[in-house]
Amino acid sequence: MTHNDRPAVVARAGRGRRERKMRLADGILGHRRQLEQLERARRAGRVAHAYLFHGPRGVGKEQVARAFAQSLNCTDAAASPCGQCQDCQLVEQEKHPDVRLLASEAELVRRGRREAESRRAPSSQIRIEQLDELQPLFRHRPYRGGWKVVIVVDAHAMNQFCQNRFLKTLEEPSPDTVIVMVTHRPDALLDTVRSRCQPLSFGTLPVAEIAGWLEEHEGLDAGQAAVLAAMGQGSLGQARQLAQGDILQLRNSLAEVVEQVPQAGLGRLLEMAGDLSGKRDDVSMKLDLLEWWCRDLLLLSGGVDPARLANRDSAQRLERLAERVPARRVLDWLAQIRRTRAGLERNANPRLMLESLLIGMHTA
Ligand SMILES: [Zn+2]
Repeated sequence: MTHNDRPAVVARAGRGRRERKMRLADGILGHRRQLEQLERARRAGRVAHAYLFHGPRGVGKEQVARAFAQSLNCTDAAASPCGQCQDCQLVEQEKHPDVRLLASEAELVRRGRREAESRRAPSSQIRIEQLDELQPLFRHRPYRGGWKVVIVVDAHAMNQFCQNRFLKTLEEPSPDTVIVMVTHRPDALLDTVRSRCQPLSFGTLPVAEIAGWLEEHEGLDAGQAAVLAAMGQGSLGQARQLAQGDILQLRNSLAEVVEQVPQAGLGRLLEMAGDLSGKRDDVSMKLDLLEWWCRDLLLLSGGVDPARLANRDSAQRLERLAERVPARRVLDWLAQIRRTRAGLERNANPRLMLESLLIGMHTA
């Protein structure tokens, strides 16, 4: 994609590059087709009552939803969105009275939008009471005279009971209201909910584009940006999350674990599992890194050009290991890593899962 092919919002955002504050539209890479489709609907007055934005995690679905909310409320109808008017600014600052985010408490805490209560862990589900809190918005006319927009972050965080309740809102549309359900797990939504929404699918982003973005906005050098972009698997969100910590150092310590696993004794395996276990999110990221490392091993065994590896900066280290570990064993490791991830998603104890992973990798 050349620079000229980019959606207008991104091209315009480039000018303010030196400003410290990042514009909302800066987060949008690609998705030209989706932005244009929404824009056409807006101009033609054919805005759907509800949309379902689905596609991989972290590719920018929510940013597109917010740009759409800006576009619907922007006072400069031709600019779509101008990014400068008060409505555009309020949406960007998440302070627009007619544009609401519906997200689980855990997600709101993660974003610093809500304080965590000390008595209990924040719920990772969207609760019925949160739907009730939205009802006044649906009943009243928009405060600022534009559109009321509700962006449902991780719509799959609604359980079936909650979805059934939400169905009523979808079935009885209130005027001037758009609901945008955002999810990477559309399968977790009820058919009745899905069928009420106009679907809009999102794909992954080209790795080179993500790398360029990371260089420009996160100040990474080209090599680091390339590794992170490859690990992000076409997801800018994931690549940015990886860029937060000292990911290369973490990856190197995981590489050490992989190198030690074949000959380590039980005591050492348990010790390493203990070192790896921590917060659930961290463990999930470590599993990603582990999976990428093993996948690169497999690619090398298959004679793939080292320049195409995710961890291309460590090609020699990978080659040394690939000589010692047969591909069949690496395949088995990959299967075990996926099982571990599935276990974590079912809320299994991270430490126990990691212990059985390392023991499994040792005996594989
Ligand atoms: Zn505007």
